[in-house]
Amino acid sequence: MINSLSFDNRFAGLGESFFAPMKARPLPDPHMVTASTSAAELLDIHPDWLNSDEALNIFSGHQVPDEAEPLSMVYAGHQFGGYSARLGDGRGILLGQVRNSKGELWDIHTKGSGKTPFSRFGDGRAVLRSCIREYLASEALHHLGIPTTRALCILGSTEPVRRETMESASVLVRLARSHIRFGSFEYFAHSKQPAELKKLADYVIDTHFPDVAEAEQPCEALLLRIATETAGMIAHWQAYGFAHGVMNTDNMSVLGETFDYGPYGFMEAFDPGYICNHTDEQGRYAFNQQPSIGFWNLRALAYAMKDLLSGELTEQLLETYQTRFFEEYDRLMNKKLGLRVQMEDDRQLMGDLLGLLQKHAIDYSIFFRKLADFTQSDDESALYAPEEAKADFREWLEAYKARLKAENSRDEERAQAMKRANPKYILRNYLAQQAIEKAEAGDASEVEKLIGILSHPYDEQPEHEDYAAEPPEWGKHLEISCSS
Ligand code: AMP
Ligand code: MG
Repeated sequence: MINSLSFDNRFAGLGESFFAPMKARPLPDPHMVTASTSAAELLDIHPDWLNSDEALNIFSGHQVPDEAEPLSMVYAGHQFGGYSARLGDGRGILLGQVRNSKGELWDIHTKGSGKTPFSRFGDGRAVLRSCIREYLASEALHHLGIPTTRALCILGSTEPVRRETMESASVLVRLARSHIRFGSFEYFAHSKQPAELKKLADYVIDTHFPDVAEAEQPCEALLLRIATETAGMIAHWQAYGFAHGVMNTDNMSVLGETFDYGPYGFMEAFDPGYICNHTDEQGRYAFNQQPSIGFWNLRALAYAMKDLLSGELTEQLLETYQTRFFEEYDRLMNKKLGLRVQMEDDRQLMGDLLGLLQKHAIDYSIFFRKLADFTQSDDESALYAPEEAKADFREWLEAYKARLKAENSRDEERAQAMKRANPKYILRNYLAQQAIEKAEAGDASEVEKLIGILSHPYDEQPEHEDYAAEPPEWGKHLEISCSS
C-alpha cells in the first residue's frame, strides 16, 4: 500500500549543505494513538492503512519506505530576540515528499524520531502531551480556515522521557507543504554560504511560488510574497483569538502557515495582553504583539536575504505587510460583526466593542457567536455579558444598530453569515488538557471526540453543547510551559 505513495523528494535534491541524511531511532513497542482521516486524504492513502502494521512500522522508524530519503533539515533562528546560529531538526525527520493526485507536494515529517546532529542537549524525543497539543491545534485551525500545517497521526510508546515529570516518548506525523522556515534563510546568510542561500530562494520560488519567477526581481518578489502570506496568517490569528506563543524565526514557515505548535492558546476572556506561554515573562509573544513580531521576523528574513535584493526594501516590506494585514483583519472582523460591506468607522466600532469585552472580561468566542442571534429589535439584555455589565453596552449597541441599518442588514441573513464566521467550538486549553490526561492513561477517545467536534466548528452540534461553554474555574488558569 505504501508503494502507492508517490515520493517526489525535491528538497533532498538540494544537497547535503541543506540537511543531514538521517534514520530514525525507532520508538520501542509503538502503538497508533490516533490518526486523522481528513489528513490521510491529502496523501491519497486509505484511512484504514493508518491502522496497519506497515504504517506503524514506518512512522515509528522501524521501516523506511523504499523511495523515502529521510533527512533532518538545518536552520538557524532568532529565539526570543537572540540569534542561534545553528538549530536544525533536533528531533525531526523529513521522511520524504509525496505528490498527491492533485499535484500537491506534501512533506511527511516525523517529530520525536530520536537524536540528530542538530539535537544539541536534547534527547531527540517528543512527549505524548505535546504531540496531542500539536495534533489538536493544527487540525482545529485548519477546520476554522486558518492557514496551518496538518497532522496525520500520533504514535505512542512506553519509552520514558524526562521533562518536568516523567512522560512517554511519542511521534507526531506532521504534513506540510513545506518545512522551510525564515530561519533556514538566516542559516545560510549568517554562515556565509551565498550560493546555498540563492539555491534555497530558487527552490522556494520554483516549488511554492512559481508565479514569482516572472517578476523582474524574483527574490524581492519572493520576500514580499512571504510578507503577504505571513500578514494574512497573523490577521487570522488576531481575528480568532489565537496566540501562537513562540514566534521565533525558526517557527515561521515561509508559506505563512501556522507552524510548530508549542504553548499556544485560544483566548477565552478577552484580554489583548494575553500571554499563553507561561515562560514568556516579558510578554514578547503576547497576543497583541503578534502583528508587530510578525514584521520583526520579516525584517530578520529580509536581512538574511539582503544579498539577493537590489537594495533596501524595508519600507516596501512594511507597506506590503501592513496593507495585507489590515485588509485581511478588517475583512475578518467585519464578518464577525455580520457586516457585508466596509465603511469608514467600522474599525472604531470593533475597537469600542473589544474595549468593552476587555473591561468586563467576556469570553471572546461566545460573545460573537451569540451576537449572531441578536436582532435589531433587541436591546442590551440580549447580549452575552454579565447582568451588571449590560448597561455599559447600550451606547455601543446604538452604534451597531445604526451601522446595520446603514447597509439594510436583515437579521436572519446576518445570523446565518455570522455563524459561518464565528465558531461555536474552539480548542479551549482545558478541553485539550482533559483529552491529554485521558490519553496519558491509555485512552485516546477524548482526543478523537474533540477532533470530531472541532472538525465542524461552525455547526451547532447540540449534543456537544457543553464543549462550547466557558471553562470551569480550574480550566481558566492552566499554566502551559515550553517543554515538549
Ligand atoms: P521547538 O521549541 O520545538 O520549536 O524547538 C526549537 C529547537 O530545539 C529545534 O531546533 C528543535 O529541533 C530543538 N529541540 C526541541 N526539543 C528537542 C529535543 N527534545 N531534542 C532535541 N532537539 C530538540
Ligand atoms: Mg521549532
